[in-house]
Amino acid sequence: MTATRGNVLVTGGAGYIGSHACKALAAAGFTPIAFDNLSTGWPQAVQFGPLEIGDLMDRARLDTVFATHQPIAVMHFAALSLVGESMEKPGKYWRENVTGALNLIEAALASGCKEFIFSSTCATFGDHDGVTLTEDTAQYPINAYGGSKKAIEEILKDFAASDGLNHVIFRYFNVAGADPEGQIGELHEPETHLIPIVIDAARGKRDSVAIYGDDYATPDGTCIRDYVHVMDLVDAHLAGLEWRLAGWENRAFNLGTGHGYSVREVIDTVKRVTNVPFTVNNAARRAGDAAFLVSGSERALNELGWSPKRSALETIVRDAHRWHLSGIAETWAAQGRAPAKR
Ligand code: UDP
Repeated sequence: MTATRGNVLVTGGAGYIGSHACKALAAAGFTPIAFDNLSTGWPQAVQFGPLEIGDLMDRARLDTVFATHQPIAVMHFAALSLVGESMEKPGKYWRENVTGALNLIEAALASGCKEFIFSSTCATFGDHDGVTLTEDTAQYPINAYGGSKKAIEEILKDFAASDGLNHVIFRYFNVAGADPEGQIGELHEPETHLIPIVIDAARGKRDSVAIYGDDYATPDGTCIRDYVHVMDLVDAHLAGLEWRLAGWENRAFNLGTGHGYSVREVIDTVKRVTNVPFTVNNAARRAGDAAFLVSGSERALNELGWSPKRSALETIVRDAHRWHLSGIAETWAAQGRAPAKR
C-alpha cells in the first residue's frame, strides 16, 4: 500500500468503528496503521493497512510503533465502551481508558506527533431530561464509561495548553450499521448493543429481545437514542482530520442525526425490514442508562460541512442486516483472533 498523504495511527483499528475508519482513511489516500490488542477486535477486519498488535497500557510498545511508522496523526478509538459493564467494573474503565489514553498522548508527543482525533461519547453528558444535547450542554456523566471519556477530554485540553497537542473531539451518539460494500461490519462477543441483538433475534440466533426498562419518562416508556451510521461517523473523522491538517482550532463536535428512536421503534423497524416475527420481553432497567440521548449536530454541519447520508434508521438496519446475513462475522468468529488465521 502506497502512502501518499502519510500514516495515521488508528488505535482500535481492528474493532468495529476503527476498521471502518481505516477503510475511509485508505480511500482518502492515507495509510492507516491499526494498533489493537485484539481483545475485542478482529485481525480479519484489518484490510486497509498494517496491523500492529499491542496494548495501550504498554508505553514501550507504543514508542516502538510511533518510531516505526512516524504517524502524522492519531485516531484514538480503542477503549472499553459498554455502559452496563462500566457500572459493574468502574475501576477497570477508569484505569484502562484513562491510562491508555495518557500513554498514547505522551507517546505521540514524544515522537513529535501532535494531531489527535478522539472518540468521545454522548455518555459524557448524562441525563438531561429530554433536552437535545449540543456541544455547549453541561457534561455530568452518570456512568463510569462516560466519566472516563470526559476525563480524557479534560486531559486533551491540558496537553494542548502544555505541549501544543492539537485535537478534535467527537462525541458519538449510537453507532450502528455496516460497510455497505460488505467488507467489514460489527462483531462483538458477546453482543450487547441493541440493533445487532434485535437482528440476531430476527435471524433466529437468539430466542428473544429484552427491553431494558419500559417505565422511562418517554412517549412509549423505553429509552430514546440517536442512531448514526458508522460510515457517516467515519466521514466526520476524515473531515476532522482535514480540519486539523488545515490548522483549524481544537474543537469538540457531537455526531448524531438530531432524531431519536425508542427501543420499541428500533425493534419495530427491524421487524419491518426483515419481515420476521420474534419474541420481545420487558426486563429491568440497565444501570447507567439515560432516558434520552439525542444530538444537536449543527456545529458539525456548519463547521465541518458534515451531514449524515446513510443514517435513516431503516438504512442503518438494512446495512447491518446485510452484513449479518453475509456470514462473514460467523467466519471470523469460527477462525478466531489469531493473526496467522487471516
Ligand atoms: N437495550 C435494550 N435491550 C438490549 C440492548 C440494549 O433494551 O438487549 C437498550 C439499552 O438499555 C439502551 C438502548 O437499547 O437504552 C441502546 O443500548 P446500546 O447498548 O445499543 O447502546 P448504548 O446506548 O448503551 O451506547
